[in-house]
Amino acid sequence: MECVKCERWIADDAQFCSFCGTRQPTVGDALTAAGREVAEATVAVMRRVAEAARPVAKEIARGAGTVARKAGRTVKPAAEQAARAVKPALRETKKVAARAARKTARVTTGVARKVKSAARKP
Ligand SMILES: [Zn+2]
Repeated sequence: MECVKCERWIADDAQFCSFCGTRQPTVGDALTAAGREVAEATVAVMRRVAEAARPVAKEIARGAGTVARKAGRTVKPAAEQAARAVKPALRETKKVAARAARKTARVTTGVARKVKSAARKP
């Protein structure tokens, strides 16, 4: 294998370099280093994802506002149309109620007159 420092060839199972004396990394060291590398890469990826997500979240927030505004624009005329449709119905209801009240008054007056004349009879 190659020495990690001086890059000269040494025995595969050497713990120290026979030229520069540098301790050679063990399998455990390599695993630890690999684990650290993976952890750092994961953090870097997460940071990149968070950075990439920020404008998307902003865009979504802006989009939500636009959707709400659009919905407002759609709902308002619909509500106005509904109000316009209800008005004549309300007028018609008022007319029918007034007619019914007049009819009731007439009938009541007639009944009252009948009751009065019946009371006058001996
Ligand atoms: Zn060396």
